[in-house]
Amino acid sequence: MKKYNLGKNFAAFGLLWTLLVMPLASFGQTRVDMPKNKYKIQDDVKIGRQASAEVERQMPILNDNQATRFVQDVGRRLVNAIPRQFQHPEFQYTFEIVNARDINAFALPGGPMYVNRGMIEAARTEGEMAGVMAHEISHVALRHGTAQATEQSKPLKQLGTIGLILGGAVLGGEQGAQLGMLGAQAWMTTFSRKAETQADILGAQIMANAGYDPRDLANMFRTIAEQSGGSRGPQWLSSHPDPGNRYDKINREAQMLRIAEGAGRDSREFQNVQRRLAGMPRAQTMEEIARNSQNGRGQGQVGQNPTAGGRYSNRVQYPSSRMQVYTSGNSLQMSYPSNWRTFESQGTITFAPEGAYGDSGITHGVMLGTAQARSNDLAQSTEDYVNGVIQGNNYLRQTTNYSRSTLAGRNAFTTVLTGRSPITNQTEVATVFTTQLRNGGLFYVVMVAPESESSSYNAAFRNVIRSIRLND
Ligand SMILES: [Zn+2]
Repeated sequence: MKKYNLGKNFAAFGLLWTLLVMPLASFGQTRVDMPKNKYKIQDDVKIGRQASAEVERQMPILNDNQATRFVQDVGRRLVNAIPRQFQHPEFQYTFEIVNARDINAFALPGGPMYVNRGMIEAARTEGEMAGVMAHEISHVALRHGTAQATEQSKPLKQLGTIGLILGGAVLGGEQGAQLGMLGAQAWMTTFSRKAETQADILGAQIMANAGYDPRDLANMFRTIAEQSGGSRGPQWLSSHPDPGNRYDKINREAQMLRIAEGAGRDSREFQNVQRRLAGMPRAQTMEEIARNSQNGRGQGQVGQNPTAGGRYSNRVQYPSSRMQVYTSGNSLQMSYPSNWRTFESQGTITFAPEGAYGDSGITHGVMLGTAQARSNDLAQSTEDYVNGVIQGNNYLRQTTNYSRSTLAGRNAFTTVLTGRSPITNQTEVATVFTTQLRNGGLFYVVMVAPESESSSYNAAFRNVIRSIRLND
């Protein structure tokens, strides 16, 4: 509520300013209004942070200081040029290069931005590259992601299609396995024509404030269209559809803008960076990156469930009271019912009885593994993890608060998620335990069973939890 009122005040202030100043000033500019938004600023920050963790897990971030620093410098110059009414001190604009051939760039709510190497190589000038970035920054500053969700009255959770963090592919969510990789792009495919017009106009204004020629933003759209043929795909253009006469509109806006002085664009640095990139081994396309990660060779964990191929049955054996030992190197030791099978895949271990596993994960059993944590705060990383599980299994809801517990002799959190499983058509109960590893990572255990069978599973789950020993 508070933010909404603030927006209104700004709009009123803007109008007053226009009335007072317009007749005197020789330069004017189109007024851009903050779109209506029912979400909190912190929602943008949170969604973007979760999504960026996922992006960086799945996409190859270029590890080249010189090129990255250059993009960050351009980014910072643009961010400093955002008109004051669109600056949100909570936002943290960050800039990374994705080592991919496609001409693409995207920014996440709250500020994380990713520019493909292909985009930097395609730009004819530094100004053209800055143009794309200014356009993306405008979407962030105007909070278009959550503004469009406001308009479509989507629940906030659905916004996070990209945030299928970690648990996504395993707990039986159908989308879990497929989405991940393309999530970031899916996120960006929905900008409306109105949002595009706003980002073009504000982008041009930011360009001028930062000392760039705003016409380079218009030029970049042509450059992209010219170079987007073939396998590189005009991804960026389909994410940012032409609202109509884009080129002319930006140029018309440019005529009304005064380009700030003193920025002293030196094109040599840009050319150096382009030469540097051209000298590196050929970058993969996003398609190749996705394909390779599905084969388990890439960065990500997108791909088939380790339990794929199993057949679900509505008669699943009760857990045996006889336990057997599982060890993973010397880092993990635990026991599990002797009639369960084990499935291992990239940091996740799944235990399930016959009839309880298949292409969409498990209906009965235990999954455990490690997840990256964004901070040393167990509560925070637990929440991130649980959100990821829910996003990947959208039938689940968190039905208890987090409570303190112990796991492997350490402080832990536990919580319960429930919902109607699309596989069994019964209410499923998933109990999550989390604790921290010494390297800062998160260790999680998720125990799953239909609610109607919980009495036969509780003892087995308790025994599993008690048996876990970590040595990290
Ligand atoms: Zn756009």
